[in-house]
Amino acid sequence: MSKTDAKNFVVEPNGTIGVLGGGQLGRMLATAAAELGLKTIIYCPEDKAPAFDVASDHIVASYTDETALKKLAAAADAITYEFENVPVEAVNFLTANGAIVRPGAKALSMAQDRLFEKEFVNKIGAATAAFHPVDDLAALKTGLEKVGRPAILKTRRLGYDGKGQTRITADDADLSTAFEKAIEFAWAEVGAAPSILEGFVPFTCEISIIGARGADGDVKLYDPAENVHKSGILATSSVPAKVSDETADKARAVARKMLDELDYVGVIGVEFFVLESGDVIVNEYAPRVHNSGHWTQNACAVSQFEQHIRAVAGWPLGDPARHSNAVMENLIGDDVHQWRTLAAEPQTCVHLYGKRDARAGRKMGHVTRLKTR
Ligand code: AMP
Repeated sequence: MSKTDAKNFVVEPNGTIGVLGGGQLGRMLATAAAELGLKTIIYCPEDKAPAFDVASDHIVASYTDETALKKLAAAADAITYEFENVPVEAVNFLTANGAIVRPGAKALSMAQDRLFEKEFVNKIGAATAAFHPVDDLAALKTGLEKVGRPAILKTRRLGYDGKGQTRITADDADLSTAFEKAIEFAWAEVGAAPSILEGFVPFTCEISIIGARGADGDVKLYDPAENVHKSGILATSSVPAKVSDETADKARAVARKMLDELDYVGVIGVEFFVLESGDVIVNEYAPRVHNSGHWTQNACAVSQFEQHIRAVAGWPLGDPARHSNAVMENLIGDDVHQWRTLAAEPQTCVHLYGKRDARAGRKMGHVTRLKTR
């Protein structure tokens, strides 16, 4: 099939999927692709990456290396990304060089900027926390009048796992210190730190929807997972989430709308705050497979990783139905040293990422405990 018909392009078995990013998500995508008879080529700047162990091939190069990107475009039938901070320019360059990249640059660029992301969510009729763009201390003060306190100041770009953000409490008098703290991270990364101030959402719980849209526009949504974060990092995801059917349907409707509006192809993770009233507020979305969807590997016939590969390859999407209740727990830092005990637990599926150093805060693996309904 010709790549000029990008919308209908199908990667046949034995074809190759290129993946930008070589972390654990790339590793699990590569494993899922192999199960479908597809090869993967991983592209990332690190010379040792978790995905290399299980992929068919890899390219070590920066995301701005045009020669290496051309090599990827030539080697892969379709390309995806597992990391939302891949520069949009890399995706545009690949597309300009004849590659099919799914999802495309639009979903990626919007997800990279918290301001654009929130404006998009509001535009499609879904709620976000109150927000105000902050480029200097004066704007922070105006923003606090608008969104109230407590509030959270986040860098617009390059924040993840609770990094690049700081809380401003009700009686925080020293605004300049809070501001400095928040911009420090982004200054180190990019040398400038446009930020966004968000009103604090008094949520009763956090949920996420893992959804997928095929190249043919078919949408499949997994059950919402209930997520607990510790120090800004996901600790557990449980299904079923303890929310009403109405709340689950509201979240599903938002995820579906986002997928359609973005003309998305692939898996998306949409995070929500649930209010006392049962209404949902979008926190953020990730244009990729998502940590809160890892439970699908063991509790569904088709995991989020296989689903994403199916979508990227232009295959029919799989059934997202859940055959078990489950609790996924991340193994962070030293948690991974419990592998022997975990491996002996009944109904517990152990997934380790092959990372050598168990540094504090580093995601080393996860376990999914299946629970009989
Ligand atoms: P984020 O990096 O934006 O996903 O934030 C990490 C975690 O911080 C979220 O999962 C929430 O637990 C908490 N958080 C972030 N933004 C807000 C908010 N506006 N109101 C309340 N909690 C928040």
